[in-house]
Order: sequence, then structure tokens, then C-alpha cells
Amino acid sequence: MEGRGIRLRARPPGRPLTVAVLGGGMGGLACAHELSREGVRVTIYEGSDGLGGKARSQYVPATGTEGRQDWPGEHGFRFYPAFYRHVIASMREIHDPESPTGTVAGNLVAAANAGVAIPGRGIVTTPRKPRSLSDLRQAVAGIREVGGSPRELARYLGVHLKYLTSCDARRDGEIEAQPWAGFIGADRGKYGAAFREVLLACTRTMVAMDAHRGSSRTVGRASSLLLADSFGDNEVDRTMMGPTTDCWLAPWQRQLRAWGVDVRFGHRVTGLDLDGRRIARAWVSDATGHRTAVEADAFVLAVPLDVAHRLITPQLADADPSLERLAGCLPDQMTDWMAGAQFFLDRDVPLCDGHLIFLGSPWALTAISQAQFWNRGARGMQRYGDGRLRGIISVDVSSCFTPDADGKRLVDGRSRAEILDRILNQLVGGLDPATGRALRSAVIGAHLDTELRVGPDGVSNAARLLVHPPGSWQVRPEAVLTIPNLFLAADYVRTAVDLASMEGANEAGRRAARGALESMGLDGSGVKLFSYAPLERHRLLRHIDGWLHGGNLPHLMDLPGHVRRGLATALGRDLARTGGRADGP
Ligand SMILES: Cc1cc2nc3c(=O)[nH]c(=O)nc-3n(C[C@H](O)[C@H](O)[C@H](O)COP(=O)(O)OP(=O)(O)OC[C@H]3O[C@@H](n4cnc5c(N)ncnc54)[C@H](O)[C@@H]3O)c2cc1C
Repeated sequence: MEGRGIRLRARPPGRPLTVAVLGGGMGGLACAHELSREGVRVTIYEGSDGLGGKARSQYVPATGTEGRQDWPGEHGFRFYPAFYRHVIASMREIHDPESPTGTVAGNLVAAANAGVAIPGRGIVTTPRKPRSLSDLRQAVAGIREVGGSPRELARYLGVHLKYLTSCDARRDGEIEAQPWAGFIGADRGKYGAAFREVLLACTRTMVAMDAHRGSSRTVGRASSLLLADSFGDNEVDRTMMGPTTDCWLAPWQRQLRAWGVDVRFGHRVTGLDLDGRRIARAWVSDATGHRTAVEADAFVLAVPLDVAHRLITPQLADADPSLERLAGCLPDQMTDWMAGAQFFLDRDVPLCDGHLIFLGSPWALTAISQAQFWNRGARGMQRYGDGRLRGIISVDVSSCFTPDADGKRLVDGRSRAEILDRILNQLVGGLDPATGRALRSAVIGAHLDTELRVGPDGVSNAARLLVHPPGSWQVRPEAVLTIPNLFLAADYVRTAVDLASMEGANEAGRRAARGALESMGLDGSGVKLFSYAPLERHRLLRHIDGWLHGGNLPHLMDLPGHVRRGLATALGRDLARTGGRADGP
């Protein structure tokens, strides 16, 4: 069975090496997992009462009866694209007796299609991964139905080709400097209005990929990987067979405890003391406000961007250039509001076999109908609520500052019920009338992200998400700092995947674990880091682009035809002279 044979490394002889992981989200958990497997004594200090942070399920209190669990709300639905490598590697090492394969990875299920809900027209679906001529026909028909043409599709694919064949210096420079909407030409009339809207919305299933606000370096990377997935071996779109906590985080917590990890809930980190070049102690406060000094050989800060920002003192900023850059950023400009909502149904209302974009919904909704996935495994929906639960529509809201048809933004909401009502109205508005009516009449309850607090002064959000604005790559810190015993493990850290996601946070956690092991004189090479093959391909073309970029010239695809031909000749000569060495200008 996958993952059962994991061997924990014996604790190194002598005094046990200790690491304090401050924050128990995806980054902190991945770090704790890697460290404890290597024999290090880990304590997680988590500010809330559960592990998982933004990935954690949010059960609706007092909704479960007769031994059933409470209704499972989520911070937002979960999407695990095929290109994810770090989270999948962790999942393969977590034992779960309820999974079909015995590990958490076995709880992943594929979604065959993606859908676009168009107001007044209903849902258009296309296969995520065309496997046959008929799938291909359906995909092309889908593009036409949403207002696109093969020419526009080719233009969009061409943009990805440009990204994939750009050298690193161009990706980090001019591509990083512009938002994705500009890079794909959506702001220059390159597409018809209808298809343009689809293209701008289609990155939304990965909520941190905002086409208007996100840099092309980051969004282009994830979008290219998603596109490459459509032609790869794995399923493009995967979700889980149940709530993230049941299917992943709870088994993980059990395993980490069995591996000796000490988890302290309700402990918030409030400060880090620097003594010379090293962190001497972290300060944590418990629920009563009592402050304790935590000492350890190494400290891993695994809290969200805005919390980390508040913890950087002038001394810490002076001690490390990454922290200095981070201290200088404005978290409000780096992050946006993304929130989850769920509608609990007394009958299944199937919408689409996969994730669904509600085109034209003012609050930029995406959704998934969970019954088709959650009733497959051993768990099933009958486990939750009062026995009536047969379906859940799980929704991500990506635009909380745009007015709806009544001129109301999510942030203007006066009550949770009002916000949920407005979300439901937008869902229903995107469906055909019969499905809309079926959905409305099936709702027996609803849940709004508990990170949103709705009070007399308006709505606040305790869990904002990095949206990688242009130029933010330069500001984002590394996991390994120059302070030798402090490491960062969260989704805003620089990673190969680059995207604020569970994958990015997991990779950051691994990078922090490697750094911490090496700082304590241990071998960090057992901590696996992965690269993403599609980004490494096209070596020759990327080399050519390095040559052009070095000469201050645009990318090959942006040059006029006659210049392209002249360059091809010159380049041919150059390659003949250098023997095609990929050392660039
Ligand atoms: C609506 C929504 C939908 C999403 N959907 C997806 C998806 O489908 N796929 C995907 O890959 N990603 C998705 N993401 C992104 C993903 O959830 C996050 O990027 C990732 O979970 C972040 O992990 P993290 O460890 O960096 O931070 P967090 O999850 O924020 O974890 C930080 C932890 O630190 C704790 N903490 C905070 N302050 C303190 C303190 N002072 N002391 C101690 N502890 C503290 C928090 O309670 C939390 O547990 C989604 C995000 C949102 C908002």
C-alpha cells in the first residue's frame, strides 16, 4: 500500500533537535511532516483551534443529529490540478484507512468536464482533456458556444507559447511587470467581447489567479501548466471525495501526532526576539492572553502574509534582506478577498461534472456540485447533518468589491443571510430557469466562510490571499533567510510553482524544512522538491529568447516577419559558431 512503508529517521544522538513551527496551515504542516520524518522534535503553535488554515473545512455548529457530523462548510472548494507535485507527494505519505488506496492521495477524484454558466443560456460544458475526436469536436463546439472562434483560441494558445519560450530574464522582467489581462491582449481588442470575458474568467478556478491583478509571470506559469495538463497523462481537474478536513487534514494530524509532533492550539505567535544574528525565542500568547517564551534550535514562521508582515520588527528587517523587502510591502496591495460559501441541498442538483464558472456573475463566482464526488467513497453525504443532506453546491467568491444588480458589494453586506442570498441569486441567474428553480427549492441551509466577519461596521476578512500583483515577485521572500535559524513556510514565499495555493504553501514548507535541517547540521536532501517539466521544455527557443532579450529585442513572436527571417539567419550563423551551447548572451 502506498505510503505505509515510510521509515522515520532515528532521532540524531545527543540532545534532541527542536523546531517550533509557528502556524499550522498547509505550509506549517508540510514543514512539520518533513522535519519529523527526519527525526526532529517539532512543536506546532497554531493560533486557531484546528489545523489547515485556509484549506480547513468549517463545520456548521449544531447541524449534525443522531451521531452525524455537522454540515461541512469549506473556506472554498478545493481544486488539485494535474501539475501539482508537492501536495500529492505529501498525500501519498499520509495513511487514511477510509481511502480506497489507504493514503490520502486515494481520496482524489477526477472531474471530466469544465463548465461555463451563461446568464439566460445555461451551462456550456467542455471536456477538460480531449481524449477522442468527439471530445475535440465538443471542445471546439464549446468554444464557439461561449462566443470564441478557432482564430481567437489560436491567439490565446500562442500567448502561452510565448510564455513557455521566454527566457527567465524576460519572465522575471517585462512579463512580471504586466498583468495577465494585458499579456494576453485582452485589453487591446484582440478578442471579441464574449470570448474575452471567458478568457478573463477562466483562470478563476484557481482563485489566486486574478487576470486583472495577477502578474503575467505567475498567472502565465499556472495557466501554461494547466494547458499542458490537458495533453498529459493525469487528470487535469481533481477534487476530493469529501471535506478537506475529513479526507486529508484529520488523517494528517493523526499521523503527525503518531510521529511525535506536539500540536498546541490557541497559541498565537506575537513576537520574535533577535539575539545577535539568531532568533533567541518566539513569544506566543494562549487564549487567556498568557505569554510564553518558546525556545528551539530553529523557528519556522508559517503564518499568512499580513501576520508575518506585522511580526517583522526593524531589527529583523535589518538582519535580512528578504524580510526588509517584505516589511516594505503593503499587504493590502498584495492580497485580495476570496471567500467560500456552501448551499446544503435535500436533493442533488447536478450542474456540471467539474468546476463551473458563472460568467457575468458580478461577484465572480465559481462553483462545484459536490454530490457526484462525495458520494463515491466510504464517507458519503449521509454522514452529515440531520439525515436530509443529498447535495452541496460549493462556491468561491472572487470579487467582493464589485456591485451586484442591486448595487451591493459583498463588503456592503449587513448580515451573513443577506450575503448568502445575493450569492444564491447570482447562481440562479446563471442557470436555465428550471435548474435555477430546482436549486432554489432544494436549499435547506447555507454556510458563509467564517473568516468573513459581518458586523455593524461592515464586513472584514481575516484570511486574505496573495494575488501576485506585477512586481510582487521582487518583493516576495525566500523560505531560507540569512538569519540562520529562521525560515518562512507559507504561500507568499518564492517557490517554483510561484502561485499562492496549497501547492505553493507545501513547497515553501519543504524549502523551510530543508533549510532548517541543514542549519542544524543534518542532511536536508531527503526533503523532495519538484520542478514542473513544461516550464523547462523548449530549451533552444528559450535560449534564442535569451539572446534577443540580451540585445533588448522583443520576443521572437513579437517581431515583424522580415526581422524574424533576418534574425533566423543570424541566429543560425551564431549557433553554428557556438555549437548551440545554451549559455546565452
Ligand atoms: C476561497 C479560497 C479557495 C481556495 N482554493 C484553493 C484550491 O482549490 N486549490 C489550492 O491549491 N489552493 C486554494 N486556495 C489557496 C490555499 O488555500 C492557500 O494558498 C493555502 O492553503 C495557504 O496555506 P498557508 O499555510 O500559506 O497559510 P494559511 O492556510 O493561512 O495557514 C496559516 C496558519 O497560521 C495560523 N495563524 C495565523 N496567525 C497566527 C499567529 N499569530 N500565530 C500562530 N498561528 C497563526 C492560521 O490560523 C493558519 O492555520 C484557496 C484559497 C481561498 C481563500
